[in-house]
Amino acid sequence: MMNEIQSGTFVNIGDPLRMEEQYLGKNDSTYVEDGKVCAAISGILKVNESERTITIENTTSTNEIVPKHGDIITGEVYMIRKSSVGVRIQTLNQKLVMDLGLIGNIHVANVSRSYVDKLDNVFQKTDMIRAKIIAQRGKEYSIATNAPNLGVITSTCKYCGKEMQRKGKGQSICPFCNHYDRKIMANDFGDPVEVLKF
Ligand SMILES: [Zn+2]
Repeated sequence: MMNEIQSGTFVNIGDPLRMEEQYLGKNDSTYVEDGKVCAAISGILKVNESERTITIENTTSTNEIVPKHGDIITGEVYMIRKSSVGVRIQTLNQKLVMDLGLIGNIHVANVSRSYVDKLDNVFQKTDMIRAKIIAQRGKEYSIATNAPNLGVITSTCKYCGKEMQRKGKGQSICPFCNHYDRKIMANDFGDPVEVLKF
């Protein structure tokens, strides 16, 4: 029997991790030697007991990406609460960071320079927004859309799914069914610079 290193522990290159007959080393982070799955890279050992698989997550690449105050993100609105909007961050300073699972929250006070009464009047789920990071709390970030270059950058009609267009100040319209919505729009609404389709 070998001494099993616990999942979640930092391992070094060459460390024997599990017996090959019991676990499958996934991707290129492990190799097999003398019937043992060993670490091919240093990083955090992840053992999936139900799938009987092993991977090592090298934290170097994600640690290089540390969102900081003033950075610009884009992301998708996934939740609208009474006083804040939840956003899944997709790009950070125009680099794709979707796989990091970063979450942004826009508090109602940071939505606009004008007064906003109800957040579901000016945002809808699936809206793509651009925002600025103003504070961090764990893996979540406080973000703000209260500047002209910030706010919703693309939105689809909630009735027919077509791309909404700018109608006037704070108004967007569906060219297909004429549905219109109030919206906190960035000044390049409908034609943003970021890569948004993956
Ligand atoms: Zn429509």
